[in-house]
Amino acid sequence: VRSVSTPRRPRVIALANQKGGVGKTTTAINLGTALAAIGEKVLIVDLDPQGNASTGLGVDRRSRKSSTYDVLCGDVGLGQALQPTAVPGLSLAPSTLDLLGVELEIASAKDRAHRLKNAIDELVYDQRCQDLTYVLIDCPPSLSLITINAMTAADAVLVPLQCEFFALEGLSQLLKTVEQVRAGLNPRLIIQGVVLTMFDPRNNLSGQVMADVKSFLGDKVYETVIPRNVRISEAPSYGKPALLYDLRCSGSQAYLRLASEVIKRERALRAAA
Ligand code: ADP
Ligand code: MG
Repeated sequence: VRSVSTPRRPRVIALANQKGGVGKTTTAINLGTALAAIGEKVLIVDLDPQGNASTGLGVDRRSRKSSTYDVLCGDVGLGQALQPTAVPGLSLAPSTLDLLGVELEIASAKDRAHRLKNAIDELVYDQRCQDLTYVLIDCPPSLSLITINAMTAADAVLVPLQCEFFALEGLSQLLKTVEQVRAGLNPRLIIQGVVLTMFDPRNNLSGQVMADVKSFLGDKVYETVIPRNVRISEAPSYGKPALLYDLRCSGSQAYLRLASEVIKRERALRAAA
């Protein structure tokens, strides 16, 4: 039964960067966990056929009955694909390798770019999902139709950027894609922010990259920088977010700070709207 006042659509944030290995999945898992830890109700949508977010949250392949592939094909609603995780307040829509073929499958459909948006719009009518406040979408390392679906569904894009020499290379392509989506498919879309990942204070290059990125992107860059931290890279092999694996490590603490920055920006955006 629908309540009298329609529940608010959760804030939808796409974690996107067409480069692989920059920290999209790690940020989805740990930002999601940190947001849940401070009382938000979070859904992570795994849109990468590799399914690293699903594995990293301890949802093994056999238990992925319905997946984001089925959702994009229109066979199940997002609510049906949801699985709980070990983190209270954090659920997951897992992916499977089927997702590799989804683009061909939906290529000729008129609503091919809107499949995820439509599924998320439906969530507010699903009893199981009415209290969701955040949806984080873990994108594949490409600017393909899957990522376009994420950007069409999203309110905002959060870009993880690895502190390495080529960090800014490819960023203009990403920003151009965001522009194109905004011009056509989704006028609401904004850049929520850019988070620097795998920062190594002992490496001069990391500091230089940080300075370059900040002069290029200004206050779009989060104050919180995610340090390179071995605990962060160990956690997924235990099927746990770093925040559950080792809450005290520098990486977990950084993701908690990032979560409060994300919420702060969110409140400011809402107040300005
Ligand atoms: P993407 O999703 O963009 O491909 P991942 O989040 O999978 O990137 O990260 C790539 C690799 O780097 C993974 O092995 C991950 O464990 C590791 N990694 C990510 N962030 C950190 C970090 N802050 N410290 C150490 N290793 C990290
Ligand atoms: Mg990934």
